[in-house]
Amino acid sequence: MLKSDISIVGAGPAGSIAALFLAKAGINCTLLDKATFPRDKICGDGISGWVLTVLQQLDPEFLQKLAAQPFLLHSYGIRISSPNGKTLDLPFFNDNSMPENLPPGFISRRLDFDNFMINEVKKNPQIDLRENFEVKKYERTNSTITLTSGDGESVESKLVIFANGANSAFMKDPGGIVKDKKNTMTGIKTYYSGISGFHDQNYVELHFLKDLLPGYFWIFPLPNGWANVGVGLDQHRISKKKINLKKLMFDAIENEPHLRDRFKNAKQETRVEAYGLPLWDHRRPISGERFMLAGDAASLIDPVTGEGMGHAAISGMLAAKQAQKAMEAGDFSENFLKSYDQHFYDRIGNELSISAKIPKFIQHAWLFNGVMNRAVKSKVLQEKLSKAMTDLEVRKRLHEPSLYIRVLLGM
Ligand SMILES: Cc1cc2nc3c(=O)[nH]c(=O)nc-3n(C[C@H](O)[C@H](O)[C@H](O)COP(=O)(O)OP(=O)(O)OC[C@H]3O[C@@H](n4cnc5c(N)ncnc54)[C@H](O)[C@@H]3O)c2cc1C
Repeated sequence: MLKSDISIVGAGPAGSIAALFLAKAGINCTLLDKATFPRDKICGDGISGWVLTVLQQLDPEFLQKLAAQPFLLHSYGIRISSPNGKTLDLPFFNDNSMPENLPPGFISRRLDFDNFMINEVKKNPQIDLRENFEVKKYERTNSTITLTSGDGESVESKLVIFANGANSAFMKDPGGIVKDKKNTMTGIKTYYSGISGFHDQNYVELHFLKDLLPGYFWIFPLPNGWANVGVGLDQHRISKKKINLKKLMFDAIENEPHLRDRFKNAKQETRVEAYGLPLWDHRRPISGERFMLAGDAASLIDPVTGEGMGHAAISGMLAAKQAQKAMEAGDFSENFLKSYDQHFYDRIGNELSISAKIPKFIQHAWLFNGVMNRAVKSKVLQEKLSKAMTDLEVRKRLHEPSLYIRVLLGM
């Protein structure tokens, strides 16, 4: 049996970032993934400022190297359209916390981004990466936690970080997180080439369609004239309204007036693929005796934007920092590891709480249209919306009914 003080299950953004932070602190770990890299991950491929902030803390040079890669685009804003087809381009508000040459966000195929991260992991002698190792079960004793693969291989550790994504069995046991349709989104995506009409600063596009609210249709531009195209909605509404996401996506491409011309010369390059997004809905423990959950395995995806990479990055980093403290204290108890939850929620809890309240407002087409009708004419409102992407105090107001009433009345 292999022995390793700390094991990490899953080498996506949450797991690879946790391993790299541990290595930075001089701590050895074993990183297990069922896949062999490079491997793809179904995603919209939008990489937000949170990921950049975490990588900047990990190693500014590594982030600069990543930023120079030809497989990613630098993105400077967001294009939103409302059910009545009104379109608004909003630059991401620059909070000046990052080096000037870096954009507010990247867009990269996950195949390339995750592989870039794994190549960094592979350079690191302190990380024992085991690919093709699917963890099937865990067992805890008073002093250890042991992970066993389908092939019967085992790793015994003092502590485990479960970062094995949306379908993690460990989310429920030992994590105690039970998912239901309301807090799980289904997303489908495909790649197109030849879509026209992108913003020249590579804005990501969220198109809010009447039958998809509060979900949306996205187009995220990529290098070489490709784009990631997809739709996402919570599973509760999909069942209730009997929505066929694939049909809805192709109908929009063919019929929505503000989309169809842009797809006139476009070619679908890959098949449509679907995957679940475990959404955050309330504060709950994300650690316990000898374990922490990170990324999708902790159900941390933003319930409005569907963004999960940033939260995976932050939780991976904070789990590694807590693991370091646990090693120093020789304490892997539930009580000690609880500080991880606290640090995570201190960092991002407010943002998640605000996001969880927004779908109830944006699910109404008339309200969305009304606000957009005003916003396209008002520079002040556009600036507020731009700021709301990054400034929590501004975003808080997005779930105040009075804000919408004032906007609709033009006050
Ligand atoms: C359609 C769609 C669109 C999305 N768009 C965006 C977007 O544009 N921007 C954004 O920020 N987020 C987006 N997300 C969410 C984002 O993809 C996830 O939040 C993110 O990948 C979470 O990272 P992670 O490291 O937690 O998990 P993952 O990236 O899923 O990595 C988990 C890893 O664990 C491995 N694994 C799984 N089970 C085991 C096991 N038993 N043993 C060993 N290894 C295992 C897998 O092989 C994988 O490498 C989207 C999701 C979907 C489905």
